[in-house]
Amino acid sequence: MSAAPKSHGRKTIRPTLKPRALMDSTEELAGVWQARIITLFPDAFPGVLGLSLTGKALQDGLWQMHTHDLRAFGIGKHRNVDDTPAGGGAGMVLRADVLGPAIEDAQSYAKGRWPILYMSPRGQRFDQSMARDLARCDGVTVLCGRFEGVDERVLEHYGIREVSMGDYVLTGGEIAAQAMLDATVRLLPGVLGNAQSTVDESHANGLLEHPQYTRPSLWHDKPIPDVLMSGNHGEIAKWRRQKALEITAQRRPDMLAKLDRDPDDKA
Ligand code: SAH
Repeated sequence: MSAAPKSHGRKTIRPTLKPRALMDSTEELAGVWQARIITLFPDAFPGVLGLSLTGKALQDGLWQMHTHDLRAFGIGKHRNVDDTPAGGGAGMVLRADVLGPAIEDAQSYAKGRWPILYMSPRGQRFDQSMARDLARCDGVTVLCGRFEGVDERVLEHYGIREVSMGDYVLTGGEIAAQAMLDATVRLLPGVLGNAQSTVDESHANGLLEHPQYTRPSLWHDKPIPDVLMSGNHGEIAKWRRQKALEITAQRRPDMLAKLDRDPDDKA
């Protein structure tokens, strides 16, 4: 591909100007969990991560995000980043000699436990335990692919792990990276106001969550279940556990079977 097309669509991926300013600080906050994103579309970040709880946490310095623009590592006057697949076939592949320097630039900031992940439909399917593990790292470098993906030699050379958001194909890794980072950042200490919510929620304990209700107490002739209005916390906890079991049995029998197999496999 030659230089990025200046289509009028390009600007629309910048959701607001303000959240991007959150990332512009080059100041390193010691000991703060950090994401380094390698992407052809740095304007897509922080995207939704700049909003609500993750955005507030970014602003408060509870985590940091930096983008590394792949285009800046492009080759020649047109800053080419991709070329046709060896062996023929459709599409374009991101070049190893463009990705390599971008990855090394990102990794020059890495310290401690700091995996390099490539968002990819061929990867291990992302789940809550991977989010927990990632939150325990010091940071992460995330490579967002485009076109047909990346030159395989880069993945081998840097020991990059492929992570998938599910069994479907996206146009690029940016949305997948934001989903992965959202799930991870909300587990960092202090990001959620109420830490208990990460203990009770779906997938935290091998079960899907019980139903939730709030005011009004009667809506379209449907009342809130009596037990929730009873004030009896023991009974409420029992009811919620029972509902969580029922919903998991109906929707995700595979999760229930796993819980029976390893009942201690909870956190
Ligand atoms: N040719 C590739 C798909 C390329 S899709 C294949 O068949 O495997 C273009 C980019 O979108 C990928 O490089 C990857 O970064 C991203 N992507 C697509 N689907 C994804 C998924 N399910 N999970 C994570 N990233 C994905």
